[in-house]
This record gives sequence, C-alpha cells and structure tokens, in this order.
Amino acid sequence: MSSKIWLSPPHLNGHEMEYIQQAFDSNWVAPVGENIDEFEESIKQTIGGKNEVVCLSSGTAALHLALIMAGISKGDEVLCQSFTFAAAANTIIYQRATPIFIDSEPSTWNMCPAHLETAIKDRIARGKNPKAIIFVNLYGMPAKIDEIISIAKKYNLILIEDAAESIGSTYKGKSCGTFGDFAIFSFNGNKIITTSGGGALICPNLSLKQKAIFLATQAKDEAPHYQHSTIGYNYRMSNILAGIGRTQIKVLQERIQNRRANHQFYQNLFHTINEVKVLEEPNINFFSNFWLTTIHINKAYSNFKREALFTKLAEANIESKPLWKPMHLQPVFQEYPYYGKKVCENLFVTGLCLPSGSNLSNKDKERIANVISVYFNI
Ligand SMILES: *Cc1c(COP(=O)(O)O)cnc(C)c1O
Repeated sequence: MSSKIWLSPPHLNGHEMEYIQQAFDSNWVAPVGENIDEFEESIKQTIGGKNEVVCLSSGTAALHLALIMAGISKGDEVLCQSFTFAAAANTIIYQRATPIFIDSEPSTWNMCPAHLETAIKDRIARGKNPKAIIFVNLYGMPAKIDEIISIAKKYNLILIEDAAESIGSTYKGKSCGTFGDFAIFSFNGNKIITTSGGGALICPNLSLKQKAIFLATQAKDEAPHYQHSTIGYNYRMSNILAGIGRTQIKVLQERIQNRRANHQFYQNLFHTINEVKVLEEPNINFFSNFWLTTIHINKAYSNFKREALFTKLAEANIESKPLWKPMHLQPVFQEYPYYGKKVCENLFVTGLCLPSGSNLSNKDKERIANVISVYFNI
C-alpha cells in the first residue's frame, strides 16, 4: 500500500531545533523569553505592523481571552458563524453567554451579513442583549468583512475575527487578523504554520496587549506575595514552542504559494467536471491562503456523492474530510437559536476538504488525480 496522503500535515523546515536549542541553552524554558518576543514581533510585521500580538497556548485560549476582554458574561448573546469549528461556540459557553448561530452566504461560505442583521434586529426586538460577533475566514477565505464591520458599527457590537485558518490571507489588501476589535490565529499542527500547538490574540493597542498578558499569566497583581484581585488563566505560550513558530513564520509566504498551487491543481483537475465546484475567490478583493482546498458536489448530479468520493479516496489511502458540521446541528448546541436558511447545511452534506498540505508532492497529486478521474469517468 502506498503511504498515506494526509489532509494537512505539519510541514517543518528543518531549522526549528535551532531556536528550541537556544531556549534550552539560555534556560528560558518557561512561558517567557526571547522566542516569544521575537515570534510576536514577526507576526506583528506579517500583518502590517499596526496591531499588537499576544502568543498563547492555543487558538481556543485566544478566543476565550477575546471574549473576556470584550466583557462578555452571563446573559449576553454572541452572534457566531454556525459553519465552523467548535472552538468559538465553546468559548461563548465558557463565559456562560448564549451563542446565536448565523448561516453562511454562498460566495465565501462565511457569515452571511443579511442573516446577521436579521438576527440582531430580532434579538433586540425580543429584549435580548446581543453584545459581540464572531466571524470566521474559513479555509483561508476572507469573509464579506466590510459588510460585517458596518453591521457591527451600526449596532455597536464588539467584533471578533476568528482568523485561525487565514494567516497570510488579505481582504482589500489588508491582512486577515487585523479586522474588528480582536482577532485570533491558531498554530495547531494542522494549520498553515504551526508551533505544534499554540495561538495568538491580536489586540488594537499596547495597553490591551498588556491586559491580555496579565490575564493569560494568572492575573498576578504587583506585590511581593501572590495577590489576585481578578480571575486569571494559564494561557501563555511556552518559549520553547515559540521557537518553532519563529522559524515557521519565516517560510509563511512559501507555504502560501504551495497551498495556492494545490488549489490551482484542483481547479485544473475539476475544470471539466461540471458536477464539482471548487471554492474560489469571489473577486480581487479576496486573497485566500487556501489553507485547504474545498469542493462541493452540485446536487443536481445525483449520480455522484460526497460519501462515495470520500470512500474512493480513503481506499487509496488518501485522507479527505467533510466540511464543518454546522454548530446549530451539533447535539451539544442544538438548543441555541439559528438564523439562516440552508446554505451551510447543504455544504455540510455535499462538501469535501481535499489534501492540501504545503508538502504535497507531485506524486501525491498524481495519485489523487487518478482516483478522481476514475470516479468521475474522465
Ligand atoms: C483551529 C481552529 C481554532 C482553534 O485553534 P486551536 O489552536 O486548535 O485551539 C478555532 N477556530 C477555527 C476556525 C479553527 O480552525
């Protein structure tokens, strides 16, 4: 059997050990040190140099801190893209707030601005207290960000950008991770760059960065003894893992080129297959890092099924994955309100993520192309 082709495996560049070694040599094997400072500075420069960066233990920790910094607490409502990974919804629950799930729109698969506004109006009419919005740039594709920002402004809501999958993507030339009041990145093992596990919170200024670090390091007041006047968290990134990130971020642009080349490969492959649509940038305002290339099968073609394609790939030892199961369909979140139609529900039924690693070889691509050509009979 040929070796397994993974969906999005880590891609190390061979230099990661250098900064890890440095951390050991200097004895800074704690959640403080030069690697953290340097990694934060590199991320800051990567996204335009204007926002402040706080490295944390995960993207989920970053989302949780964003909600805490936004003052979200019991009884508040947070409008959240339904079509995404569970982390955002979970962190809303951590704060004992209520998630209000919003459908996607078909061109980016991200939060639908029209349903968002309908939901806000309806919540207010019901006497509820919507306070914040979490939107996502899924699979690297920027959302319809201008429209979402103007709704947030109109109703005076705090805006949180879940850019876990979209570092290096841009919207109207501006980096993802810089929109809204707070944003987050993830450096989990499956993301475009990794620290094995980690994340970052992006803040608009230095005093908010300092506040985030304070909360992420157990909220210790200034005192010779341990003194606490607020609830703290142990969310800071380790200086060892930041050493991995420091090396990884140097090759971000190459990684994006590779992922975009994968996307081009799939576009060419599916070009003549009418049954399949590859998610593409709607226009030049959207630049995706194409973390994952995603497709969906046109429902009109009932001969072809997502499950069948998934199975054919699996039989050839190729990993693929159904698109996100919407949060409002998850057993754990079923009780919460949902505003929308069936855009994300349909994507869940008909869509698939294809192998998109930046280390996908030409041989891997041949194997994938073979399975797909056989299945679609071309
Ligand atoms: C990966 C991911 C997260 C969570 O990041 P972790 O670092 O794994 O905690 C949050 N949101 C989205 C959309 C993600 O893909």
